[in-house]
Amino acid sequence: MKKPFVTKQKIEEIVKTYPTPFHIYDEKGIRENARRLNKAFSWNKGYKEYFAVKATPTPGILKILKEEGCGVDCSSLTELMMSEACGFTGSDIMFSSNVTPDEDFLLARKLNANINLDDFTHIDVLDKLCGIPKTICCRYNPGGKFAIANQIMDNPGDAKYGMTKEQMIEAYKILMQKGAEEFGIHSFLASNTISNEYYPELARILFELAVELNEKTGAKIKFINLSGGIGVPYRPNEPENDIEVIGEGVRKAYEEVLVPAGMGDVAIYTELGRFMLAPYGHLIAKAVREKNIYKNYIGLDACAANLMRPAIYGAYHHITVLGKENEPCEYKYDITGGLCENNDKFAVDRMLPKIDLGDYICIHDTGAHGFSMGYNYNGKLRSAEILLKEDGSTELLRRAETPDDYFATFDFTHIFD
Ligand SMILES: *Cc1c(COP(=O)(O)O)cnc(C)c1O
Repeated sequence: MKKPFVTKQKIEEIVKTYPTPFHIYDEKGIRENARRLNKAFSWNKGYKEYFAVKATPTPGILKILKEEGCGVDCSSLTELMMSEACGFTGSDIMFSSNVTPDEDFLLARKLNANINLDDFTHIDVLDKLCGIPKTICCRYNPGGKFAIANQIMDNPGDAKYGMTKEQMIEAYKILMQKGAEEFGIHSFLASNTISNEYYPELARILFELAVELNEKTGAKIKFINLSGGIGVPYRPNEPENDIEVIGEGVRKAYEEVLVPAGMGDVAIYTELGRFMLAPYGHLIAKAVREKNIYKNYIGLDACAANLMRPAIYGAYHHITVLGKENEPCEYKYDITGGLCENNDKFAVDRMLPKIDLGDYICIHDTGAHGFSMGYNYNGKLRSAEILLKEDGSTELLRRAETPDDYFATFDFTHIFD
């Protein structure tokens, strides 16, 4: 069973100040989860989680994670700017981008961030722009398929990211000639994994690569970045990852591969996004229309512009009708938004309690890749983001957009000149 972290009563209180739709985040859940993660990797002296800013680019959230000891993983100019404004500096920032524009490299270098090169050709680009920093990271793509116990998890050979092994070796040699002194290795092989084996398997691959790179180039490996990819159970009854077991699995690979090679001082980094935030966010919307044709539809005041995952991936997001948690799910609905796009459905053929207009609908697990993927199609406006604080009070993290925001990039005064 999936239980919302807010009650109908609480939402009725909040909507008096902030009308629906909005994303709401659970500070207590975020902090407790971050602490579990840090504990699971506390065996590694240099361990650090760099929260993937793209998952929830909201200063109020970054601040909480900073207080829990996290850094940030950025992939664009504005993410770097936001991180700087939130007080992240130097090695608190990983810059893991691809097709990286010059200005992004320049800002990352100015902030003294850990730069993760996605491609071999970026060595020259960075060198000509601003020189190679003392610490530098390269992203690895092993190609082929990535499987755990014969089960294919993802297809790195089809992914645009990273360098081949030959390129990694060559890159480290060239980077050393250009003055780099300490190196990182980064790789992201599978997304939203529900498996305690993903990180340990990935770690073993990267640890073995680290030993090989060190042997072939003499490069000093400072950190290994396991990146993102630990998933969350979007469906009820889906098993949950056990971060303690995952941390232990990585430790075992570390002791079996790195320690015997004399590399027991390598720091482990992670760049989790989904795992850090997804379960601790809900999209709260109101049922505003009902129609019955060949199917039964409930229309919400939120739409795919507020949460794209169902529309673009067919992703499942659990739905709770607030106040009807214990009623039987005897009605079959499509839960839709109002975009002129038939894929604007939060749920299709979902069995739910009878929904009445005015009911508040809680869409679960929207804390990561939720608000942040939003867009303005059909002129729909982005919603507010609200923090449910540990003491039960609320704080507005970001106000809802108004039509003025939507029109801000036009100058109407000249249109009819
Ligand atoms: C998206 C991304 C992440 C975070 O991925 P999650 O699936 O949210 O854990 C981490 N690192 C990089 C480079 C990414 O692109």
